[in-house]
Amino acid sequence: MTNYLVSGKDNTCYGCRACEQICPKNAITMKPNKEGFAYPVLDADKCVKCGLCAKICPHDNPMEAPEKPVDVFAGQYLEEEALLGSSSGGIFSAVADYVLANDGYVAGCLFDEDFVAVHMVTNEKKTVEKMRGSKYVQSDTKDTYAQIKALLDENKLVLFSGTPCQVDGLKRYLRKDYQNLITMDLICHGVPSPYMLSTYLDTVRAKKGPITQLSFRNKKRNGWGAQGSIGYGNKVKSISRFNNSYYYYYLQNSISRKCCYECKYSSVSRVGDITVGDFWGAQDVLPELNVEKGVSAVLANTDKGLTVLNELKQNLLLTEVELETVAQNNGNLVEPCQMPKKRNEIYARIQQKGYDAIAKEECHFQYVVPFIRRHIPKSLKKALKRVRKG
Ligand SMILES: Cc1cc2nc3c(=O)[nH]c(=O)nc-3n(C[C@H](O)[C@H](O)[C@H](O)COP(=O)(O)OP(=O)(O)OC[C@H]3O[C@@H](n4cnc5c(N)ncnc54)[C@H](O)[C@@H]3O)c2cc1C
Repeated sequence: MTNYLVSGKDNTCYGCRACEQICPKNAITMKPNKEGFAYPVLDADKCVKCGLCAKICPHDNPMEAPEKPVDVFAGQYLEEEALLGSSSGGIFSAVADYVLANDGYVAGCLFDEDFVAVHMVTNEKKTVEKMRGSKYVQSDTKDTYAQIKALLDENKLVLFSGTPCQVDGLKRYLRKDYQNLITMDLICHGVPSPYMLSTYLDTVRAKKGPITQLSFRNKKRNGWGAQGSIGYGNKVKSISRFNNSYYYYYLQNSISRKCCYECKYSSVSRVGDITVGDFWGAQDVLPELNVEKGVSAVLANTDKGLTVLNELKQNLLLTEVELETVAQNNGNLVEPCQMPKKRNEIYARIQQKGYDAIAKEECHFQYVVPFIRRHIPKSLKKALKRVRKG
């Protein structure tokens, strides 16, 4: 039995769903807790006490990963459209394209029609394109681990991309190494609950009508950085921590799953064959790169990961860099984010009063920033733009 199923402590489960998917008696079902994060619930009548769930739980077992990467790079995909649709250097798309070209399957996260983040397994390029870009919310892995196992057993090449806890969940679920599996984990800041995102989106829908698009990182509109966009009606608005309450809460680390604040994967010892993240500060180290289009920090953690990257060399700009250089600008590669004192209160108050009321009370910038913007003279705006472009 897993620790969470014994203790019921929210910080003892990553929500990866490995236990649910491995249970031979279907005795475990994932259900949302009060905050909207999925947790396993055991049907004791169905449980035969085989102990498989505890044996494979990523939280309860020590992490098995190389101490540090084999090699570290700054990376950028040369395929322009894919690069611009990705959050950083498009490395996910580069590896996914390689896998599809080798008759393989890609498992990654996309938004469904209601903007719920889910994992899917596919061999269709159109679906892989929807997997591009970071969704700042916990994704539901559904039954993808079982689907992946079936494909691996058929000798298909499979790429799985997700948070490190999801990668570890998959590897433990599989219980053996597959040469035909490539795993890619993200440097991860933490994941908010699906409820938090949906309750925020509901407030937008109530005021503006149906949502047509949502991107947390929209390079085509804003360049490479922590800015995205939301669309409703025939309008598309830029969002960032300065004008959007959800983004603000997210980057303040205020709404992550409890285990994220104690995440053992926030380390240079990584579970995936390849790790990808934003290479913040790339312009200082690699001035020759077109940084505006995004650069990834790429960690080849295993020989398999390095082999895949080497095979892609013609399609990627890859420059070797020091691990320390990446870690310096990327705190989550070294330690997890700290839990702000307000975190629990935010979830509790949103449940009581509703998202909009709380966001209005706490995120005054929503009104201040547009007000300031409206009142800055055009000449000053132009001067600021020139400064930003350097
Ligand atoms: C929740 C979250 C937190 C992150 N925190 C950091 C951070 O602190 N520091 C940092 O450097 N980088 C962070 N990243 C990673 C970064 O934003 C880029 O996703 C990464 O650099 C890969 O970029 P890319 O250009 O190669 O590909 P992209 O096309 O941007 O990456 C897409 C891949 O990310 C996966 N993905 C997207 N959303 C999710 C999700 N919700 N759950 C699981 N997998 C998902 C998809 O499966 C897809 O394969 C985070 C990403 C997410 C999703």
